[in-house]
Amino acid sequence: MTLAPHPLRTSKRVEEVTYAVRDVVLWARQAAAAGKQMIYLNIGDPCQFDFATPPHVVEAIVQAVRENRTSYTPSEGIREAVDAIRADAETRKGIRGVRSVLVGNGASEPIELLLTALLDPGDAVLVPSPGYPLYTAVLAKLGARAIPYYLDEASGWQPDPDEIARAIDAGTRAIVLINPNNPTGSVAGRPTLERVLELAARHGLLVMSDEIYDRMLLDPGTPFVSTAALRDDVPVATFYGLSKVWLGPGLRIGWCVLSGPEAAVAPLDDAMMRLARARLCASHPVQCAIKPALEGPKDHIAEANAKLRRRRDLTVEKLRAIPGFSIVPPTGAFYAFPRFELPIDDVELVRRLALEEGVVLVHGSGFGQKPGTQHVRIVFLPTEAQLDEAYRRIGAFVARL
Ligand code: PLP
Repeated sequence: MTLAPHPLRTSKRVEEVTYAVRDVVLWARQAAAAGKQMIYLNIGDPCQFDFATPPHVVEAIVQAVRENRTSYTPSEGIREAVDAIRADAETRKGIRGVRSVLVGNGASEPIELLLTALLDPGDAVLVPSPGYPLYTAVLAKLGARAIPYYLDEASGWQPDPDEIARAIDAGTRAIVLINPNNPTGSVAGRPTLERVLELAARHGLLVMSDEIYDRMLLDPGTPFVSTAALRDDVPVATFYGLSKVWLGPGLRIGWCVLSGPEAAVAPLDDAMMRLARARLCASHPVQCAIKPALEGPKDHIAEANAKLRRRRDLTVEKLRAIPGFSIVPPTGAFYAFPRFELPIDDVELVRRLALEEGVVLVHGSGFGQKPGTQHVRIVFLPTEAQLDEAYRRIGAFVARL
């Protein structure tokens, strides 16, 4: 006798895992299937638009494959890559007291390995709200708590150290900073970072500084300070990689640099390396592009920033002209997080814009937004002509509303 198929029970923890950036794709597919001309302003992937991975990075990978550099590597990464990352952290970012480097499959993997190594169920991490949703997804998976701290829209989306201080509880283990921020495009100033480090020192917390967009600064002269460069007596995990600044998100290479007092950082490094060994290593041939990327030509960065600056300016100008919309001009990365006051909520606005206008955005609540406020995230990577058309369609939709 065969039993009737029985649905397999799945993890309760996973019910809490959401990732809005990809969730909206379902509406986009529906609209595309219905014949809409789509404009995708939802995924932060430069290579889907008119940006390309620099040739010397591509060449390094191709050559590595040809030379049969396809074996497993040490779990922390190949020597030449680890040395190049350490040198970049020390000399360019100014991080003193680098204790270890771990190369992973994108920055996402070291972020997840570090959170897994640090936390027990019930422990808490302070995460920026709005903020990149990977952190809350991993925390849900680990049965740990995400405590949001709200970025202050009125002061250009800066983190508010007083609010962070109020949010720390007995189970708090770490503070996440995303700088430049996704989804607001804001760049945190030195005094703010210093105050966050002061809080971390006082409460014995780890600071996780996600600096994946550190050189995507849209206005010449925008100062950028790496959190870990400001103090060497606080444990800091700095995340970086090839996905954004080297225009290669599908290469899946990123890394974590742990810095701070040896006694504080060593047990975490040890726990993270145990997990890293169990997953073997990151892609060997792609690791061979790290040294050439960090040490080779960088013209593509200024070129990309100049293009993004024009697209940011157009975004700000066009959105400000749509009734009900306001926007803090982004100064880093390629995201804008405009606010709207219209008789519709953010999820419904995104759903209807996709279905009725073929314009795909992401709802603000997918990144966390202050209760009572409504936002959408816009990726301004498409060409000016495409952006112009997208904002025309958004304007037409709002006029109908
Ligand atoms: N951190 C932030 C703030 C991001 O915006 C992203 C991707 O959008 C990531 C990390 C993921 O990086 P990676 O592609 O290197 O895994």
